[in-house]
Amino acid sequence: MAPLDQLQRPLRDLRISVTDRCNFRCRYCMPAEVFGPNYQFLPRDEILSFEEIERISRALVPIGVSKLRLTGGEPLLRRGIDDLIGMLSAINGIDDIALTTNGVLLAHHAEALALAGLKRVTVSLDALDPATFAQMNGVGAKIDRVLAGIGSAQTFGLPVKVNAVIQRGVNEQEILPLARWAKENHITLRYIEFMDVGESNGWQMEKVVPASEIRATLESEFPLEALPPTHPGETAKRWKHADSDAEIGIIASVTQPFCQGCSRLRLSAEGKLFTCLFASEGHDIRTLVRRFEDDEKLRHEVATLWTARRDRYSEDRGQNPGPKAEMSYLGG
Ligand code: SAM
Ligand code: SF4
Ligand code: SF4
Repeated sequence: MAPLDQLQRPLRDLRISVTDRCNFRCRYCMPAEVFGPNYQFLPRDEILSFEEIERISRALVPIGVSKLRLTGGEPLLRRGIDDLIGMLSAINGIDDIALTTNGVLLAHHAEALALAGLKRVTVSLDALDPATFAQMNGVGAKIDRVLAGIGSAQTFGLPVKVNAVIQRGVNEQEILPLARWAKENHITLRYIEFMDVGESNGWQMEKVVPASEIRATLESEFPLEALPPTHPGETAKRWKHADSDAEIGIIASVTQPFCQGCSRLRLSAEGKLFTCLFASEGHDIRTLVRRFEDDEKLRHEVATLWTARRDRYSEDRGQNPGPKAEMSYLGG
């Protein structure tokens, strides 16, 4: 029986962080001065193996999990990631497997990912202007590689969605160029409000470009038609261009929170479960897995955790005393 949490929300999505490492240092996520050369990432033996990830995912299907998303850190840094996708896509009851990536290694991986059973890919791309892009990713990475990755994913039949985090004074001038480019290339685009995840990104409300402003900027150039939600708990408000099928959405987690429908559970790379993106502490599941406890025991543990869940951080903003776990660790 699928459990409901204290706010009557079912468990549906499992977001799996396959690594806490990344080849970017986006300032809003892993600023280089915090995640520098001496930063201690998780040692290899603490990271869940593919078999352990598969086992946890499979065990959670009977209590509601039907959608998986691989994330990180940068998931394409994990060697053999397509093997993991193959293992996950063989699980009965999983009907969607997606992956979120910064896209810089995607051109090399797209074919193997598609063949392994990946259903779709989300690429994070905050700017088309090369200088703004290089500055935002913190390592000077070139936009051309990300665009090649997107092209390659399309070539191999993977539907692509692009996420752009918009920050005041950093890339609000990219809102319209991104919309023009996405429309031209038939790519679904999502703008994301800059969130107060973790403790190291220097978040301030003044740096958030609210959804209302993003929408007004878009409507200064594009006539948009509202689209109805496709499922309860959808994170994005969505529109389509009046003169094309291209879809555009805004994830307003700060100014219009959507905790009411939140069915997401996160699994960190070292096997801790987080019932909210803004939680301080995770719940260890790796110990049970490494003790070879049976699936029933794993399920019971997670169902108990889910049943007790009351998280609604974005609706209660400021009420959580913290400190909050970093997004690159628990999985965006
Ligand atoms: N490295 C991959 C990537 O960048 O797509 C996957 C992990 S990343 C943590 C997942 C998503 O979180 C990305 O789309 C990123 O833009 C978003 N993100 C990270 N920090 C954020 C913040 N402070 N506010 C809003 N979104 C953020
Ligand atoms: Fe890396 Fe993604 Fe975080 Fe950027 S947003 S630093 S690409 S994990
Ligand atoms: Fe879900 Fe927590 Fe985000 Fe609310 S703040 S939508 S409960 S992850």
